[in-house]
Amino acid sequence: MRRAAYDGGNGAVQRSGRKEEPMGRRMPALFVGHGSPMNAIEDNAFTAAWESLGARLPRPEAILAVSAHWFTAGTRVTDDPNPRMVYDMYGFPEELYRVVYPAPGAPAFARRTAALPGLEGLVRVDDSWGLDHGTWSVLRRMRPAADVPVFQMSVDRNASPEEHFRIGRAIGALRDEGVLVLGSGNVVHDLGRIGWDMEGGYPWADAFDAWVRDRILAGDLDGVARYREAGSPAALSVPTTDHFDPLLSVLGAARPDDRVTVFNDARTMGSLSMTGYLFEA
Ligand code: ZN
Repeated sequence: MRRAAYDGGNGAVQRSGRKEEPMGRRMPALFVGHGSPMNAIEDNAFTAAWESLGARLPRPEAILAVSAHWFTAGTRVTDDPNPRMVYDMYGFPEELYRVVYPAPGAPAFARRTAALPGLEGLVRVDDSWGLDHGTWSVLRRMRPAADVPVFQMSVDRNASPEEHFRIGRAIGALRDEGVLVLGSGNVVHDLGRIGWDMEGGYPWADAFDAWVRDRILAGDLDGVARYREAGSPAALSVPTTDHFDPLLSVLGAARPDDRVTVFNDARTMGSLSMTGYLFEA
């Protein structure tokens, strides 16, 4: 795995200034650690990095968002031509519930996804969901114009890590058709252990985030699916799989010749990792 410019910390991705490129090239696969829903409306170093990254990404035909916040039995994709807003968070300021991200849907791509080799019979189209905050809190910063169609894929609560990786490999084919594959979750995510006043991470959170990063930078992407081998730091960092599995889908969608960029490499409030990974041709 080639490594692109990496700032070693919490700042913005360094390469910038590229013009949007013509269609037909492979779209990136991108994992974003979304953290608090407040990142939709609060400005901080993480959201600044999302904005600068979004400004330099090529314009896709559509965005397939695999969101931690749609955790279902089986895998589903939304096919609503006008996805509704889903405010799946509680106890936040009123302003957050007024956020609207009016991107159109992508029903043709949704149907195409459900028919991809390896996914027939596994993925079903389902218009009962819309865009949840795993998707809109990030895209609002990355693509504020909301001018690219977006459809969501759920996280199958019953699938193994290897199955999530295989689903990712299947949807990775869409990258050649102009679709940006976006996974939204968190490598480390335990709301029960949040330290609201903590700046960084607990030692086990730092250790597990580094374990994952080291494997990714070594090109051992499918090795990340065996994350339970990391022992107690993994058990503490991934108490439930909803926020971790979208990373496996993105790693499955990555290709050996992609360049990888690590961004927002930081832990916050003890038990959240904001680390993101961009894979691009
Ligand atoms: Zn979340």
